Amino acid sequence: MSVKKILEDVIKRNPNEPEFHQAVEEVLESIAPVLEKHPEYKEAGIVERLVEPERQILFRVPWMDDSGKVQINRGFRVEFNSAIGPYKGGLRFHPSVYIGIIKFLGFEQIFKNSLTGLMMGGGKGGSDFDPKGKSDNEVMKFCQSFMTELQRHIGPDTDVPAGDIGVGGREIGFMFGQYKRLRNEFTGVLTGKGLDWGGSLTRTEATGYGLIYFLLQMLKDMGKEIKGATVVSSGSGNVSIYAAQKCQQLGAKVVAMSDSNGYIYDAEGIDLKAVKQLKEVERKRLKDYLKSRPKAQYVEGCSGIWNVKCDIALPNATQNEINKKAAETLVENGVWAVAEGANMPSTPDAIKVFLKNKVAFGPAKAANAGGVAVSGLEMAQNSQRLSWLFEEVDEYLDKNIMQHIYREAKKAAEEYGQPGNLVVGANIAGFEKVARAMYAQGLV
Ligand code: NDP
Repeated sequence: MSVKKILEDVIKRNPNEPEFHQAVEEVLESIAPVLEKHPEYKEAGIVERLVEPERQILFRVPWMDDSGKVQINRGFRVEFNSAIGPYKGGLRFHPSVYIGIIKFLGFEQIFKNSLTGLMMGGGKGGSDFDPKGKSDNEVMKFCQSFMTELQRHIGPDTDVPAGDIGVGGREIGFMFGQYKRLRNEFTGVLTGKGLDWGGSLTRTEATGYGLIYFLLQMLKDMGKEIKGATVVSSGSGNVSIYAAQKCQQLGAKVVAMSDSNGYIYDAEGIDLKAVKQLKEVERKRLKDYLKSRPKAQYVEGCSGIWNVKCDIALPNATQNEINKKAAETLVENGVWAVAEGANMPSTPDAIKVFLKNKVAFGPAKAANAGGVAVSGLEMAQNSQRLSWLFEEVDEYLDKNIMQHIYREAKKAAEEYGQPGNLVVGANIAGFEKVARAMYAQGLV
């Protein structure tokens, strides 16, 4: 079947799931030349199988809120592809979650995990539960109910979930506790665990730091330096905070960050300690940043952040946050590099604008793979019953993971006649390994 026909089928079989269609279309466009070179993949229906999840689990999550009222949410786990390892991918708790979001994320995860060079298949899950404004007790009750069902489907050699939007250390803790109680086993079934109970040093920082290690490779090839550069990092969650931290350590000035309500602009450079206190400790809105930094500005509406002039833009919040217009504004304001910490944060039109204007562009699958890679290292440490030093993991993340991914994506782009196009390069490099494994394993 042609790539065009496969995409038409995907759209027909998965109606009203635009994010999933968008993710599939981008990958299929990139890998078309690989299929020409490998007719055996076509004959074996590799792509037709790849776009259909191996398993999709949908379940009811009942829980009781603090006022004694019954609440019902919907839980999801999409086990997309296990050709190169147990399913691996985060859980997202956000009111916008529905099956299409989980499928887009799970599909992307297949290629991202493959790029890391570690043995991890692709999966993703979550719920339309909104942790914002809930008490710790309510979050715990929800997590326990969610895990009561999910535990049937996961395990350290089967499927190993992690965090994503709305799921951090607190939620992983509650879910791990419930899994352990129900199964009577202490295993590395979730990653992102606390350091005292099997977590890996550097996991908290890994996606953000990894993003900047990847960016450094891009800048090196352009002959540019991060030191002295002006950076905008959207979001103010796990990815954004630690990307900003690494930028500051390397001498860049981060001037703007956001949350879903609005963005802050601090010409003197963002005070990350204040952001961490607000978002990680007090779980408050970014607007309150002005209380400790009265000279900064707060602007209502998160999309305006892309009007802020910068050399480097890091979309670190959510999908489709940079559209064509935002990309054009960034280019007009002289941006040289964009590296995606969030999953699919740039629309296809926006990516075209960046590539056309020779802005160095690091696509999410490659640039944000540091988080799942260190999750892979957490799984390895759990199996060994050992924990590695921060410096060991950090160095491995930089040299063995992010630099390796950059080289692989760059090489694949060159090999297929599109030098410098890391979107195509990452998709091809991620696909080739999975396709080889699926082919070798027969029709399953
Ligand atoms: P967090 O929940 O820690 O933070 C998310 C941040 O983005 C918050 O500031 C949140 O604002 C903002 N945000 C969420 N939804 C929207 C929205 N619809 N519009 C505008 N802003 C929004 O999540 P992470 O930092 O973990 O994840 C951020 C992105 O990175 C996601 O795309 C995720 O899939 C991706 N990612 C995360 C990895 C990880 O290791 N954590 C690994 C790889 C990718 P508010 O506080 O108002 O909700």
